[in-house]
Amino acid sequence: MDKKTDVKSLTMEELKQAMAALQEKPYRAGQLYEWMHVKLARSWDEMTNLSKGLRAKLDQKYAYTALREAAVQTSRIDGTKKYLFALADGNFVESVWMQYHHGNSVCISSQVGCRMGCRFCASTLDGLERNLAPSEMLDQIYAISRSSGERVSNVVVMGTGEPLDNYDNLLRFIRMLSDENGLNISQRNITVSTCGIVENIKRLADEKLQITLALSLHGSTQEKRRALMPVANRYDISEVMDACRYYFDQTGRRVTFEYALVGGVNDTEEDAEQLCRLLAGMNCHVNLIPVNPIKEQRSYIESERRDILRFQDKLEKRHINATVRREMGRDIDGACGQLRRRFS
Ligand code: SAH
Repeated sequence: MDKKTDVKSLTMEELKQAMAALQEKPYRAGQLYEWMHVKLARSWDEMTNLSKGLRAKLDQKYAYTALREAAVQTSRIDGTKKYLFALADGNFVESVWMQYHHGNSVCISSQVGCRMGCRFCASTLDGLERNLAPSEMLDQIYAISRSSGERVSNVVVMGTGEPLDNYDNLLRFIRMLSDENGLNISQRNITVSTCGIVENIKRLADEKLQITLALSLHGSTQEKRRALMPVANRYDISEVMDACRYYFDQTGRRVTFEYALVGGVNDTEEDAEQLCRLLAGMNCHVNLIPVNPIKEQRSYIESERRDILRFQDKLEKRHINATVRREMGRDIDGACGQLRRRFS
């Protein structure tokens, strides 16, 4: 990004101060905020109730970013759309649009690439390039909203990147997305998925937001988890579980545990048994994801259907709420762990 301040990442309060500095009336901040975050303007030129003089003044000091839609693929199976967006600096990110009975959901990326190194995930193969700015996270939703002409009701931060590795920008993004002056998406309809950065789960808990925390577990013991996720070398599974309990205690929000079922690796009856023990007594939800094979990692294959159902059954019998995630957009590589930095 260039040296000008990124105007779309400023809160309403900050915009008011910015207007004061330009000797403009405070209500101008409201107009500008509405252009950016409600009318989803793509450039200064669209802001017709701001004078040309003011627009020019703003342009001198502030950068107005908008994503360029570089490609869209539509799933023939379920209508899911995968978008490739070009950022101002020439990097790319992918985002996914999904339609469910209960509303429209957008899955956004939080970083260009990822440095977490989960063995089964395509998004981490090239490492981390950089964090996304709040505006770039918002813009994925805005661009898709404009392009589909429909209201987005749910946002999941489950695309490329580790959101809690980009903490400050993520927080600002959530506050702006749920701001009543903007798209006003209820925090209850926002989910942030993390591989388990313990200190930032606790920080997030202390913010007392109403968002859903999804924790990528993928193994029910320290050893199993470590074999799939390098982040487990930094935090023991017991610390991760404590952080999740803390999140629930602070926010009252039930934590979702994501568990990608990998054939012969973490899908046995013993694995299910251990998971039951790990989660016993917790108010939580388990999302079982049949692993999406990626071409670079051929040894990770999807579990057999009957093993998936047996796994789920075992959890339910122990009164642990478990669903098998419907994989959307699989034919366009739009499902979990299939998003990439580069288009291929
Ligand atoms: N970094 C965050 C969010 C991005 S990944 C996290 O780790 O949670 C979103 C979810 O997809 C995570 O649960 C992740 O482990 C899972 N995932 C990654 N690759 C996958 C694959 N190939 N098949 C199924 N799920 C996968």
